[in-house]
Amino acid sequence: MARSLASWNVDIGWHAQASCVGEDPELFFPLGETDTAAAPARTGCRRCPVLNDCRDWAVRHGETDGVWGATTPSQRRALRRAVLAASARALLEQAAEQQSP
Ligand code: SF4
Repeated sequence: MARSLASWNVDIGWHAQASCVGEDPELFFPLGETDTAAAPARTGCRRCPVLNDCRDWAVRHGETDGVWGATTPSQRRALRRAVLAASARALLEQAAEQQSP
């Protein structure tokens, strides 16, 4: 089933400024995850004033489908892994500091 940001009834403040509101949902949820399939949506995202908010939201919420903030699902998975790794490193460093005399 095709979705669009405009049809979602969730509290995401940046949504009101999303430049994809009213666009064809199929553009942002292309079949397949190839760069070619995602290119038109990613091009549109790069002109969107809420690109960073959108991308961060999708990464934080583990959005598995579609183009969000000019990223594909595989790009978001990589970002999520990087964020989790950085968080784990920070926690380990904090724990080491607390244990040092
Ligand atoms: S960054 Fe892309 S998907 Fe996100 S709100 Fe803007 S146009 Fe829509």
